[in-house]
Amino acid sequence: MERIQDIYRPVAERLQDFQEVERPLLEKEIRSQAERCMNCGIPFCHGSGCPLGNVIPEINAAAGRGDWRHAWELLSSTSNFPEFTSRVCPALCEGSCTCGLNEEPVMIRQLEKAVVDTAFSNGWVVPPKVESRNGRTVAVIGGGPAGLAAADELNRRGFRVTVFEAFPHPGGLLRYGIPDFKLNKALVERRVELLRQGGVEFCCNTKIGEDVSGMWLAKRFDEIVLAIGTPSPRDLRIPGRELGGIHFALEFLRGQNRVIGGECTNLPVSAAGRRVAVIGGGDTGADCVGTALRQGARSVIQLELMPKPPAERSPSTPWPMWPYQLRTASSHKEGGERRWNAATKRFVDNGQGRVAALEVAEAEWEFSQEGRPVRFTEKPDSTVRLEADLVLLAMGFTGVSPEENLVREFELSVDARGRIQPAPERHIHVAGDAAHGASLVVRAIADGRQIGRVLA
Ligand SMILES: Cc1cc2nc3c(=O)[nH]c(=O)nc-3n(C[C@H](O)[C@H](O)[C@H](O)COP(=O)(O)OP(=O)(O)OC[C@H]3O[C@@H](n4cnc5c(N)ncnc54)[C@H](O)[C@@H]3O)c2cc1C
Ligand code: SF4
Repeated sequence: MERIQDIYRPVAERLQDFQEVERPLLEKEIRSQAERCMNCGIPFCHGSGCPLGNVIPEINAAAGRGDWRHAWELLSSTSNFPEFTSRVCPALCEGSCTCGLNEEPVMIRQLEKAVVDTAFSNGWVVPPKVESRNGRTVAVIGGGPAGLAAADELNRRGFRVTVFEAFPHPGGLLRYGIPDFKLNKALVERRVELLRQGGVEFCCNTKIGEDVSGMWLAKRFDEIVLAIGTPSPRDLRIPGRELGGIHFALEFLRGQNRVIGGECTNLPVSAAGRRVAVIGGGDTGADCVGTALRQGARSVIQLELMPKPPAERSPSTPWPMWPYQLRTASSHKEGGERRWNAATKRFVDNGQGRVAALEVAEAEWEFSQEGRPVRFTEKPDSTVRLEADLVLLAMGFTGVSPEENLVREFELSVDARGRIQPAPERHIHVAGDAAHGASLVVRAIADGRQIGRVLA
């Protein structure tokens, strides 16, 4: 019995829309995949793999025998929003799956999706019934996965919770970053509605520190949870950066999400008919590739400074560590070109103040004994010109600035990596990317849950 490879809708079909790219697994496929999990001796997946500690073998055993209700009870006991993680999680658990020692890991994420989707379709996911209130109030600043998880946990424990969100809708990057073809926004709305029905209040279109001061909030609430994410994208300060047609990835992705969500009608940045260069080889870059292809880009190239990772797990990350190896997103299978060792040196003007091309040199890397790239030099005479009239910068985030309004108002400190330090003695807590740097949805949820446990 092997891992199923064909889990996507056909490329030609999915490029026509922004619906989720993954197809649902058939019942017999779910059973066969769950059975693969049952051959395990000692499971490492939930101990050293899943940040939420999902009890994966037990969930899979229940799903495999068709006991969906029990599978759901187990899954929901450790995870607040498995409908999100089962769609966007890179499945850290699968990196430590015992099957992965000598064959391909169990499809843990897809099994999780089958369990949560079955639970929703059977009406088992209901708003929490909070028996009594403890008289304490919490303001959660930021409605991303960390803020929503903290709100859910604290509300269930009897706190009166209000989530303040700068955007028109809660969801954070789930709603205003990750494309619909990975996560349908109706799922985010459905979860927010359940939280609302359970007693969480939402105050959107409200940027704390600008529309309302943090101190005003601090006077009215017993506890403050800062879950504001990492708002500052990393820039590429090279000659020509000021030219038109060069945008941060999030500006591009967010625009598409807002159009699909009905918040606006025109894309602020469109790839239609453009030769697109995406700088940054990670997930955000891949999301730009998929979005640009759907918008009708003439060509798409994704450039990464780092060398191409090995096809198999690198010896620098032995099992059960998360493997350093090549990852291919669904968007990469849809078109475009990927190039590694690509050091962009200059943006070229088209003579009218817009970008026309990139000058890119080849990076020559030195590797550590374990095979990890450590430093690079530019290969002599390797510079080439790549035509591009839309450039998307997808090089990660720099963390929170010490100049951020809320950081100054609450007199918090920020470390060298832009992570806000909490001040629990003053009832100020920090969760998610704001606390740990840009990371993953699953870690943000785990962190929000932790806040709930600490405050209870
Ligand atoms: C394009 C993109 C794709 C990604 N894809 C994946 C993926 O596939 N899988 C994965 O696991 N992770 C992915 N990530 C990372 C993941 O989205 C983040 O790690 C996660 O959303 C962090 O959650 P958070 O709640 O800490 O912050 P965020 O999701 O950033 O939410 C923070 C919220 O706080 C609000 N806010 C900020 N300041 C204020 C203020 N002063 N007042 C009120 N509200 C405020 C913001 O508007 C935002 O809604 C992706 C990230 C990006 C950018
Ligand atoms: S949340 Fe992510 S790491 Fe945890 S079980 Fe699901 S897919 Fe695996």
